[in-house]
Amino acid sequence: MNFFIKLIFLLSFPFIIYSQSQSDNGLKDRDSALNYAYYLNCSGVFEKKIDGIIYFFPCKDEEELQIKKIQMQVRPEVTEVWDPEPKIITPGNSYGMPPSDAIILFDGTNLDSWIQENGEPKWSLKDDYMTVKPGSGGLYTKKSFGDCQLHIEFRTPSQIKGEGQGRGNSGVYFMQEMGAKGDVGYEVQVLDSYENRTYSNGQASSIYKQHIPLVNASKKPGEWQTYDIFFKAPLFDEKGKLLRPAYITVIHNGVLVQNHVQIQGATRYIGYPSYKKDNKKEPIMLQDHGDLVSYRNIWIREL
Ligand code: MG
Repeated sequence: MNFFIKLIFLLSFPFIIYSQSQSDNGLKDRDSALNYAYYLNCSGVFEKKIDGIIYFFPCKDEEELQIKKIQMQVRPEVTEVWDPEPKIITPGNSYGMPPSDAIILFDGTNLDSWIQENGEPKWSLKDDYMTVKPGSGGLYTKKSFGDCQLHIEFRTPSQIKGEGQGRGNSGVYFMQEMGAKGDVGYEVQVLDSYENRTYSNGQASSIYKQHIPLVNASKKPGEWQTYDIFFKAPLFDEKGKLLRPAYITVIHNGVLVQNHVQIQGATRYIGYPSYKKDNKKEPIMLQDHGDLVSYRNIWIREL
């Protein structure tokens, strides 16, 4: 129903009310009855002879009309939903601080929540941050995650070295199975993208080779930056058929850069993405790309 029909109905509403009182919802012309039917959200009109005069009524028959009238008279409480009540949590005291229901993955004191493929973490720990140990491999969470909200802070080296993909490269991978051959997870790119051009779908905060960020919100190398990432895992049936793809939203330094974009499959450096076909939760992995990228204040909420 278009805007003009709605407008005509609203303008004729007093007349309709008046007519209603005359004949208990019966109207003398079909068009007014049709407008009233639209208002009641029922289809068509029916007619009835009262004292020798034909009246038109909204709805397909008397029964539907009575049901719709009752529905229109329901109390406001009918559309209030009280259950479930959202759990009360305490937010962090300042931006980036974990709320009370977050799992702390790294608070700067230890690497207890992390593991590497060949055993204990080899990445270095200093002050309140950790840094990639080039050649040691990716750093995995011990725990596996599906749908989640992740907060992570990173810093690319202040001493500029290399260019394009070779400058401050790392990455935050979701659902990266440990021991899997190659990339099976989904990478949010970490890169020094401050005055460092590379392919757009490979710069910082891109979904690597799948989605270009809406803007480049990168800070200068050596400055701490934040990602707040909202990840929705893909869903498969028992035969491995994709029922729902993965989705991701990324906020980079407080700026929305990926707005609920659809992930096309696991990250691929060469070739096109495709999905690994199961519903298992997997670790989050921080990539060792050979550059001295540091991380701090990492926390996650399972959704
Ligand atoms: Mg990377």
